[in-house]
Amino acid sequence: MLLGCIGDDFTGSSDLANTLAKGGMAVAQYNGVPDGPAAPGVEAGVVALKSRSVAPGLAVRQSMAALNWLQDQGCEQIFFKYCSTFDSTPHGNIGPVADALADALGAGPVVVCPAFPGAGRTVYLGHLFVGDRLLNESGMERHPLTPMTDPDLRRWLAPQTRHPVGHVPAPVVAQGAAAVRAALAAQAAEGARLVVVDALADADLRTIGRAVADAPLVTGGSGVALGLPGNFAASGRLAGARPAWRGEGGPCVVLSGSCSAATRGQVAAHRAGHPVLDLDPDAVIAGETTPEVAADWALAQRGLPLISATAEPARVAAVQARHGREAAAAALEGFFAATARALVARGVTRLVTAGGETSGAVVEGLGLPALDIGPEIAPGVPALRGGPALVLALKSGNFGGPDFFAEAAAVLGQGA
Ligand code: ADP
Repeated sequence: MLLGCIGDDFTGSSDLANTLAKGGMAVAQYNGVPDGPAAPGVEAGVVALKSRSVAPGLAVRQSMAALNWLQDQGCEQIFFKYCSTFDSTPHGNIGPVADALADALGAGPVVVCPAFPGAGRTVYLGHLFVGDRLLNESGMERHPLTPMTDPDLRRWLAPQTRHPVGHVPAPVVAQGAAAVRAALAAQAAEGARLVVVDALADADLRTIGRAVADAPLVTGGSGVALGLPGNFAASGRLAGARPAWRGEGGPCVVLSGSCSAATRGQVAAHRAGHPVLDLDPDAVIAGETTPEVAADWALAQRGLPLISATAEPARVAAVQARHGREAAAAALEGFFAATARALVARGVTRLVTAGGETSGAVVEGLGLPALDIGPEIAPGVPALRGGPALVLALKSGNFGGPDFFAEAAAVLGQGA
């Protein structure tokens, strides 16, 4: 294994795995830190954690365990993957995890670059944009778990890390990899360790990728990983073969626990042509709506059934006010995990899930140790094989076009 990746959630990890696979690497995604060694031939291993929204100390411990395993597999470079909307709070977990990994690897300066221009996320003068809006006007300011209320990544990251935060601006990135390397070194000389690097287009990400060819640690969204396979290919170290995709033809069900704007649009679009079970969070939390009932409902439907907790921000806020943010999230995530188990036990072979945390809970609930990376469904979302009779699409909240659910079901069925 050449490149070792630590993802702070499951959908983000499959997004990263997708990017690396498209870049020509043989990629496997592991759900949590594996017990044994990786299968032979894996060039990039992505350890998917569920560490984005847990306590910072736990996020650091999980990430360090992942680092140790990846080092045991021989990895030469470590990539810490977080969300392209930089989902975190003033306490973490991006800063504390990046600090701990940098300490362990003796790394620095360390690139911080959540940009993903293909999905509309760009970083300019240290500020993160989603499309033509600043991050804090994109809807992310109302995220249920990590409300992003400041678009200045330097200011947002500062309370999360022990060292000053540096910055490499877009005009320097435009000058090429050597200029980026020099600017990173200059920032480090001034005391910075984590350095926010601007990126407006994929070309910038490739430049940054070349600049960090020898860095022990790189951090960012999946975008900045665009440039990493090329470094290994340039030194002739990639085998260059990808296995063919074979989907599954059995029943398909969609589970949505994401309340992000894109998912709300997808749920609304899906409603026009397919059956939707709208969950009442109060009834789920009270145990009145059970996973078995939801699974039975889904299997009795025609078309592509969707089981959804997706709601407008005001309704989410009301549920959180009644039950507490963590308790509501835990109950709904546990419900989706148990529903996924019930569905698979009843013969479902294709699962589509919306929501980073939700998808993490589902994959954990299903106990899938590793996922093979298949074709891309939408930017950042690959088809995945989770076992001999199960394929999945795990969609982070804001990814995918309006018809994502039907598109995912189709790709998951290809070649069956
Ligand atoms: P996204 O990728 O869109 O951020 P996540 O699944 O990561 O989606 O996060 C959404 C969180 O909100 C989950 O913990 C989910 O259980 C919770 N949630 C979903 N629907 C509701 C709701 N109606 N009320 C309160 N919380 C909800």
